[in-house]
Amino acid sequence: MDERAYYSESPATKAATLNCPYCRTQDTYNLRWLVRKKKERLPAGADERDRAKFAKAQSYMVLLDDKAACKNLRCRRQFDISGVKTTAFL
Ligand SMILES: [Zn+2]
Repeated sequence: MDERAYYSESPATKAATLNCPYCRTQDTYNLRWLVRKKKERLPAGADERDRAKFAKAQSYMVLLDDKAACKNLRCRRQFDISGVKTTAFL
């Protein structure tokens, strides 16, 4: 069973403060996340292994964006998002 079956997925946005590496402007960006919330119970068709893995599973979210477009109108360059944890447990 795919581990994704343990979770219900939903999108979320969270604000993060980022620094543009080109113009050094700091601004707040709304980053897109995918929230994987652990289901109340295992889906039908689960075997022993699924049960063990499901017991240890935790809700978490993964960062979908890997780039941001600078909000400084004189710059507007795309830069890699760094300094933001790309997964977080809920
Ligand atoms: Zn910039």
